[in-house]
Amino acid sequence: MAETTKTALVIGGSRGIGRAIVERLAASGFDIWLTYRGNHAAANEAKAVVEAAGRSCRLLAFDVADRAATRAALEPLLQERCPDALVFNSGIARDNLLAFMQDAEWDDVLRTNLDGFFNVSKPVVFEMIRKKRGRIVVISSISGQMGQAGQMNYAASKAGLIGAARSLAREVGRKNVFVNVVSPGVIETEMTADLPKEHVLPLIPLNRYGTAAEVAAVVDFLCSEPHMYVHGQVIGVNGGMAI
Ligand code: NDP
Repeated sequence: MAETTKTALVIGGSRGIGRAIVERLAASGFDIWLTYRGNHAAANEAKAVVEAAGRSCRLLAFDVADRAATRAALEPLLQERCPDALVFNSGIARDNLLAFMQDAEWDDVLRTNLDGFFNVSKPVVFEMIRKKRGRIVVISSISGQMGQAGQMNYAASKAGLIGAARSLAREVGRKNVFVNVVSPGVIETEMTADLPKEHVLPLIPLNRYGTAAEVAAVVDFLCSEPHMYVHGQVIGVNGGMAI
């Protein structure tokens, strides 16, 4: 069957930054394969927004930390077609100082944020290499670049993603598969709702939190721009918090 529209596979597209990415890519003409873990109501809301933009949206619920479940969910899709873009956005935080960190807090974050990328990207990249075409955008975090007290698990997973993406970029660039990282600072989402704003704002030269739409705009550029020579880069969307 002729592939007439572009398709984006957005991992963790149901809420927050992922939801904004899905909306923005749909507005840019992508059909969406939207994955999430369990929040069916949020996923259905995101689907409705994509469809209102005139694009199709398929929902898939699975845990990216579960390798077998991830492969089982993605394989039938990949047999149908290879997505033009993969955005790995899913992520969790379980903050604690190392002295108090529970084994499960370390394991859950690393398995979801870092193993999850391996679980998803391996079958997708295989197809992109065969097609000699693809865009991969990984959502890291400023914590992965700078470190953050109370986030050793999260920062390690996000720094790991940067290393993984840079290595993958070196592997697949000559196959016309672009790999880049978007590294948000503090973005207005559920994840940051409880931060003490009076302490955080002085650290941000723009003196405000970012929006999910501002992250999505950069992701859209990396997925859509036809004149593309950006590869293996970590692009901060942080209001100048890391300069
Ligand atoms: P949210 O918690 O709002 O949304 C997370 C998304 O990932 C949801 O779609 C969720 O699905 C999905 N998800 C979470 N865990 C799993 C899992 N185990 N398997 C499959 N899907 C899963 O996150 P944010 O929008 O705040 O953050 C998005 C990304 O941006 C994350 O990677 C985060 O680390 C990163 N980031 C966020 C910042 C911020 O300020 N918010 C700053 C820097 C980076 P479901 O709805 O079913 O739970």
